[in-house]
Order: sequence, then C-alpha cells, then structure tokens
Amino acid sequence: MIRVRVLAGIAVAVGALVPFDGSPKADAFLSSDGRLLKWRSQSRGMGTVVSYAVLTDAFRVPQGKRTLSPDNCGAMQPFADIVKESPDVSVEEAKHELKAAFAAWEEIADLTFVEIEDVSRANIVVGAAHSPLGRAFANLSVRSVETPLPVSRALGKADSDTQGTSSEAVDREESGFAAIEQAYVCLSQRSRWKVGFDGNLDIYDLRYTFTHEVGHAIGLDHPGKSGSLMAYRYEERFQQLTPSDASAVQKLYGSRPSTPKSFTSNR
Ligand SMILES: [Zn+2]
Repeated sequence: MIRVRVLAGIAVAVGALVPFDGSPKADAFLSSDGRLLKWRSQSRGMGTVVSYAVLTDAFRVPQGKRTLSPDNCGAMQPFADIVKESPDVSVEEAKHELKAAFAAWEEIADLTFVEIEDVSRANIVVGAAHSPLGRAFANLSVRSVETPLPVSRALGKADSDTQGTSSEAVDREESGFAAIEQAYVCLSQRSRWKVGFDGNLDIYDLRYTFTHEVGHAIGLDHPGKSGSLMAYRYEERFQQLTPSDASAVQKLYGSRPSTPKSFTSNR
C-alpha cells in the first residue's frame, strides 16, 4: 500500500495533549493556571500512590470536570475494544503492556501504581477512545485553584466550619503544584496495535504508547519532537525511558529509593 509520507508524519503524533510550540525544552510539564500539575502524595516522604482502573464498560468524563482538553477521552469504551482491530494482540497482552508501562515509571520514580475496580475512585481511567481522530490520548481534570468558600467564610466570619475547607485547600497545593483530580488515557479502537517494535511506524507499539500517555497522566508534557519517550513523535528508538524522561518525572516525584544497604549487607 502506498502511503503519503507527510500524512504518516502527522499521524505519528502520539495524542498531542497540549499544542507544542516547537521550541525544544530540557523538561516539559503540564500546567494549569501557572502551576505544574502532579499527583499529591498521601503523606510526606512516603512516595506517591496512584490508582488506576481499566474500563469494562463505557465511560464518560463526568460533567463539570475541569479538564485540560475538552475533547480527549471524553467518551470512552471498554479497554478490550482497544484491540478490536488488532487480530495479533489479545486483550490480556494489551493489559500486560499497560502494566509494563506503569512499571517503567515506577522503576525510576518514587511512584506506585495500584489497580482498583471502582472507576469513580480511580486516579487514572484507561480505556478505548470511541471515535478519535488520532490514535492515543490523555486528559487530566484539575481541581479548581479557587476553592469555593463557605458562605460564613465569605462574609468574613472565622468560625470553625471553615477550617476543613481551608486546610484542604492548602493540602491541594504541594509547594506550588496543583493537584491532578483524575486522569484519562484512551487509545483508538479503530487503530491497529502491536506488541514490540518492527520498524513499521504506521502501527504503534502498545507499551510505548501506554508509557507515553501515562507520562501525561502523571503531569509530563512533550519536551520536544523527538529524542525521548515523552517527545510527541512516535519513534521505535527507545525500549525504555530515556534520561530526559527520567529527569522530568523525578523532578515531580523524586527518584525511586534504592534498597537500604542493611537489607543486603548481612548476606
Ligand atoms: Zn503526547
């Protein structure tokens, strides 16, 4: 089949989440209202635990959520639909690749991903994109920076029922960051997917794509057009995260703590 190269060039943008301005940056992060976005750690110094759910039913981003992109992943289908047009890839294999993508970020950053079933409680929701124009997308909903104040507080009364809201508002901003409320990762159910690289850049590798989109779901943007897994161009050059990807995620969440020496010294 003859393919027009320039079309392939456009198509390889993996879920352009935010328009890229063309200037290469060392690191790139998603932001909202001038604040970098990240998942909030449950307790200081304990790393960050992020849950995810794999869709078994259709899903819509709830009305009223404040998302970074109005279109991405608004209507999603069950995860299994991702491989509807991919006869070589089973649903189990696709799920294995998703887990490998989470593991890649866990290996280098102080992040732990936990699968749960309750979609409404999940931090990251993963499924198929219903009728997408591209192949893979991510989206994030953000907590409003301007927390609505209770009426009594707005009227200037410093009474006890405002305390919960105030401390919660402070909690939401971890030293200048804004907290991600929920994130969505969706891959086109109309595209063909593969497992592993074969040099054919018209069919994307699932692990690469999931890893890239999960990168968005934890607050990373495109650092440039190529040279890292978070770059917006699909390239089969990296089997794992690059130093640029690592340095970006570690700025948000810290490095994966190494095994304490006492653990192995007596063996
Ligand atoms: Zn992207």
